[in-house]
Amino acid sequence: MSPLCIFSPRILHPRGSHTAAGTFVPPCPPLDREKVKELQRFISLSKRLLVMTGAGISTESGIPDYRSEKVGLYARTDRRPIQHVNFVQSAKTRQRYWARNFVGWPQFSSHQPNAAHLALSSWETLGKLYWLVTQNVDALHTKAGSQRLTELHGCMHRVLCLHCGEQTPREVLQDRFEALNSTWGAEAHGVAPDGDVFLTEDQVRSFRVPPCTKCGGPLKPDVVFFGDTVNHDKVDFVHMRVKEADALLVVGSSLQVYSGYKFILAAHEKKLPIAILNIGPTRSDQLACLKLDFRCAEILPLIAPQRPGLGAPNPQGGPLLDLSCGRTHHAPASQSHLKMADAVSQPVEGNP
Ligand SMILES: [Zn+2]
Repeated sequence: MSPLCIFSPRILHPRGSHTAAGTFVPPCPPLDREKVKELQRFISLSKRLLVMTGAGISTESGIPDYRSEKVGLYARTDRRPIQHVNFVQSAKTRQRYWARNFVGWPQFSSHQPNAAHLALSSWETLGKLYWLVTQNVDALHTKAGSQRLTELHGCMHRVLCLHCGEQTPREVLQDRFEALNSTWGAEAHGVAPDGDVFLTEDQVRSFRVPPCTKCGGPLKPDVVFFGDTVNHDKVDFVHMRVKEADALLVVGSSLQVYSGYKFILAAHEKKLPIAILNIGPTRSDQLACLKLDFRCAEILPLIAPQRPGLGAPNPQGGPLLDLSCGRTHHAPASQSHLKMADAVSQPVEGNP
C-alpha cells in the first residue's frame, strides 16, 4: 500500500477548500448579456489574439489564488509564498518545502481544467488564439490541450536540478519521496496555488529529500519562485508574440506581478486593444478598453471564436475598426506573419 493511502482522505479534503470548485472564486455580479456581446465583438475582430491567464482562471478548478478578497490565500491565511533566495540557500527551507509539496502533490496534480481552459484550447484549434501566455504553474492549459503556450513562471509538473539543470517529471520525484519516507505520516491543512500545504516543524524535521540522480545536487520545482526572475529568452519570446498580436485578452489575473504586467505595458505601448476578464480590480484596468468582472468559466464558453463576417480573415492585411474599443486592430501583412506563425507553432516548453 502506498504510504499516501494512510492519510489520503485528509489530503483530498483539506481544511478550507471543501470540495466545491467555486469555494475559491470571489463573489461577482451575475452575467451581463451586453458585456458578453462586447467581449464577443472584441474576440471576433481579432485575428491574432494573444491571451494571458493568471490564477483566476484556475480557481474554478479548485485551486486558490493568492490575492482575491476573502477567498485568496493572503486573505484566508498568514502564509506567504516561498522566496527563491531562501530555497536556494537553505537545505532546511528545501526540506520544509518538499515535505509540504509531497503531501499536497496528489491533490494538486489531480486538478482538472475547467470550461475556461477548454474554451481557450478550442479557440487555438479553430485558429482564433494566436498565443497563450500563462502565469500559472498548474499545467491545466496543457491538460486542456493547449499547445501554443508559454508557461511564464514554469510548471510544477517538472523538477529542476539546481546544479546540473537536469529536468525530470515531478511524478518520478513523488515515487522517490515515497520510497525514502515509507513510514512518514503527515496531515495537510490546505493547499496553496503552488501545491504547497501546511505542516508543523515536527512533521517536517523527519522528512527525507532525495538529491538529483545525475549529480547529487539539490532539486527545485521548475517554477519561478517569488524573488527570482523569468528567463530572458522566454521574456524575449513573449515580447515577440506581443509584437505580432493584434489584441490582448487578460483572463483571471490582477496583474500585480511585474513579470506578467510588463507585457500588458508593451501591448499598450503598441496600442493593442486590451480586454480584461477578472473578478476585482487589476493593475491595468485603466489601460483596458473592456473590463469584465465575471467568472472565466461562465463567460468564455459563450464566446464563438469565429463569426462569419466579423472574424473572417482580412487578406489585404489592412486595419479593422474595433468599435468596442474605439481603436484600430492592425491585421498583419499576411506572408511575413504566416512565416512567423510557422516558426513559433511549437510550444517553447514541454510538460510531462
Ligand atoms: Zn543534477
